[in-house]
Amino acid sequence: MRFQDLHLSEPLLAALATQGYERPTLIQQKAIPHVLAGKDLLGCAQTGTGKTAAFALPMLQRLAVKPQAPHGRARPIRALVLTPTRELAAQIGESFHAYGRNTGLRATVIFGGVGQQPQTSALRQGPDILVATPGRLLDLMSQGYVRFDLLEIFVLDEADRMLDMGFIHDVRRVIRALPRKRQTLFFSATMPDEIRELARDILLDPVRVDITPEVTTPEKIGQTVYYVDRRDKCPLLVQVLADAAITRALVFTRTKRGADKVVRLLERAGIGSVAIHGNKSQGARERALDGFKTGRSRVLVATDIAARGLDIDEISHVINYDIPEVPETYVHRIGRTARAGADGLAMSFCDADERAYFNDIERLLRMRVPMVEDHGFAPPGRPQPAPAARGRGQGKPFGSHARRAAPPRSRAALPAAPPAAPAAPPVNPAHSTRSRGRGRIKPRVWGR
Ligand code: AMP
Repeated sequence: MRFQDLHLSEPLLAALATQGYERPTLIQQKAIPHVLAGKDLLGCAQTGTGKTAAFALPMLQRLAVKPQAPHGRARPIRALVLTPTRELAAQIGESFHAYGRNTGLRATVIFGGVGQQPQTSALRQGPDILVATPGRLLDLMSQGYVRFDLLEIFVLDEADRMLDMGFIHDVRRVIRALPRKRQTLFFSATMPDEIRELARDILLDPVRVDITPEVTTPEKIGQTVYYVDRRDKCPLLVQVLADAAITRALVFTRTKRGADKVVRLLERAGIGSVAIHGNKSQGARERALDGFKTGRSRVLVATDIAARGLDIDEISHVINYDIPEVPETYVHRIGRTARAGADGLAMSFCDADERAYFNDIERLLRMRVPMVEDHGFAPPGRPQPAPAARGRGQGKPFGSHARRAAPPRSRAALPAAPPAAPAAPPVNPAHSTRSRGRGRIKPRVWGR
C-alpha cells in the first residue's frame, strides 16, 4: 500500500516525500482511514510503530480542510495531544511540524521541568494543535493560558504509561475541561482495568486497531548481554566482529545518526558495513541491501523502522548496539535472526544508562539473559541485582508531577541496575548460540 491509497492530501504527501517515507506502516494503514472519517479510535500500538504519523496525518488533514477562525480573531486550540513524557511531547511536536509544513497549521509543545514563559508566549500566538504533558498543562490551564472551548480532536497517547507514572488523575482532570463533542483517539500498549474504564468513559463507538507484538522468542535464538561503557561500545563491536563465526550481522541503533556513526567507525577499523534508514534514497537503500544479501558486506546497521519488513534470511547475529526503550522492540529485533530454521545469536551492548531498559526486557522475557563477563571492555564492578519491580515506562519522567511519581533517570539516580546472572558461566558467543531459560514470553495484550 502507498500513502496515496490512503487519500491523503497533496500537501501531506509532499511532506511525507520530504521525510523520505515510502510506505505507510501497519498502524498507519489501519488507523488513518478511520481517523479521516472522523471516528473515535482505540489503538493498541507502541512508539516505534509509526503511531505518531497514524494520528498526526489524518488530524492535520481534517483540521486543514475546515475553515480557520475569522480574520482578526485569535485562533483557538483545535486539537490536543496529551502524552506522558517530555521526550515524547517533543517528538510528537516535531512530527506535527514535519508533516504539517505545507498546511499552514501551527503546533506548540508544552511540558514541565523548564521555564513556562516561552510556552505561554507560544500559546498567545494561537496554535491550532497543542502537544502537552499533563502536569504543565494543568498548571497553565489553571493560570488561564489555555482554553479548549473550540477543541475538535483529542489524542491520549500512551495511556498505560500515564497510569504507571501516576498521571491518571491529572489526565481525567484535563479531559473534564474538554468539550464533550469531539473526536477522541486513544492509544495504549496494554489495557489494565483502569485504562479500560477510562477508554470506555471517553470514547464513543470507537474503531479498534490492534498492532499486537510478537509474543515468542524463537527457540533457536541464543541471547547474551555485554555490560559496557557507552564510549567502549564501538571498540567492543569491532572486537566482536573479528569473530569469523559472525557471517551476517544486523546491528541495531536507536537513531539514524547513530547508524551512520557506527558505519563510519567500522570503516575506520577496516570492517565493511552499510547503513539503511529513512534518510537514504531508494537507490542507496537498495544498493546497501543488495550488498548485504549477496554477502559483499557482512554488517548491516539499521534503525528499527528501517529494518521492519526487510526479508533477509540467514542473519547469524543480531547486535543491539543500543538497547531499545520498548521491551517488545527487543523481541522484534532478535526475531530477525534464526529464520528458516537456522540458529542465531542476539548480543546486547548495555551501558549504565540503559540498564533500566534491559531490566524491563528481562522482565518481559521472564529470564535472565546470560552476561558475557570476559570481554575486554567490561566496566569495573559487577552490575547489582535490581530492586523491587519498577513500573514500566518510569524511566524518564519530567516535571513536578513526574518527580513525585518516580525519580528522574540520571547516572546518580539509576534505580535499577540489571540483575546479575549468578548461575550463568561466562559465555563465549562464538561457541554458544543457546540461552538459558528460553521459552514463551508473556504477551502484553489487550484485556489483561
Ligand atoms: P513513532 O512510532 O511514531 O515514534 O515512529 C517511529 C519512527 O518511525 C519515527 O522516527 C518516524 O519518523 C518513523 N516513521 C513513521 N512512519 C514511517 C513510515 N511510514 N516510513 C518510514 N519511517 C516512518
